[in-house]
Amino acid sequence: MSEVQNVIIIGSGPAGYTAAIYAARANLKPLLFQGLQPGGQLTITTDVENYPGYPEGIMGPEMMDQFRTQAERFGTEIRFEQINEVDFSTRPFTLKTDFDTFQAHSVIVSTGASARLIGLEAEKALMGRGVSACATCDGAFFPDKEILVVGGGDSAMEEAHYLTRFGRRVRIVHRREEFRASKIMVDRCKANEKIEWLLNRALVDILAGDDGKVRAAVLEDPRSGEREEVECDGVFIAIGHTPNSEIFKDKLEMDENGYIVVHDGTNTSVEGVFACGDVMDHIYRQAVTAAGTGCMAAIDSERWLENQAH
Ligand code: NAP
Repeated sequence: MSEVQNVIIIGSGPAGYTAAIYAARANLKPLLFQGLQPGGQLTITTDVENYPGYPEGIMGPEMMDQFRTQAERFGTEIRFEQINEVDFSTRPFTLKTDFDTFQAHSVIVSTGASARLIGLEAEKALMGRGVSACATCDGAFFPDKEILVVGGGDSAMEEAHYLTRFGRRVRIVHRREEFRASKIMVDRCKANEKIEWLLNRALVDILAGDDGKVRAAVLEDPRSGEREEVECDGVFIAIGHTPNSEIFKDKLEMDENGYIVVHDGTNTSVEGVFACGDVMDHIYRQAVTAAGTGCMAAIDSERWLENQAH
């Protein structure tokens, strides 16, 4: 086992890298584990146009490269490994990868969340080519276009409503007639003239045109098995997010959906363990808010370590 680290950061999205930049500049020599998807969710988006400081926009993967370079510049050690197991019951804390065991006086959890997908081949193949899991990120790429939003919860209602700012028409595709969404959100969509409903329809395939972009969706009525092809330019999957918090189950307090609960900034239920980014935020979920909470976690951890030393 190697020496005890001041701070180990788990996760490499905007939250983790920002925490690393701040912790490294505070001379804490952070060790950051990138995990299986280095760069996080931004690596599956295309242009990022809403992050301040990039007036022309920037590609998500390139932005994450820059975050990483900035974190390394100040001395962050970065490892391309996944933390699979943690023990927060005694200090220093213990963290395990498949190959090694590490110890740290403090830990910053920034493992993010994953947009739930339906599981179609076409969904993955056409991601960023008309398929999206984030209206705030990608809505502006669909001016005057035909958009489908899949889902029947609050996320789907919110995204559909938001997308009417851009699209010519937004159709909500939901596999049954009842909604999980709150009445107020459904009513708001019903009152929106640009929104139409395709109920009792499950998305079973997405078709590309000659340009390699979405051309149509194949929907199936679960009651009859009948299929139809619906022409569209964009398909937004809005069936929820799953926080990447599995390994912290029974170790950190979480809400009923698995989001890590924080108090007084980024403190978790275990002193010395901090959480930032989408793993603790199911509301804003933006790169800039994740980076902001990453900064907070680094400052919280730095202050906590300082107090321990006295
Ligand atoms: P959700 O409430 O779990 O709804 C997910 C929806 O996706 C359900 O309608 C579900 O259909 C559908 N779905 C799930 N898997 C599917 C699949 N494989 N194929 C087709 N459809 C599928 O998730 P959410 O909408 O993301 O909301 C999560 C939480 O965040 C909720 O507590 C919500 O209130 C909250 N939220 C609040 C706001 C707001 O207040 N502004 C905005 C967004 C989210 P079934 O109903 O048939 O299962």
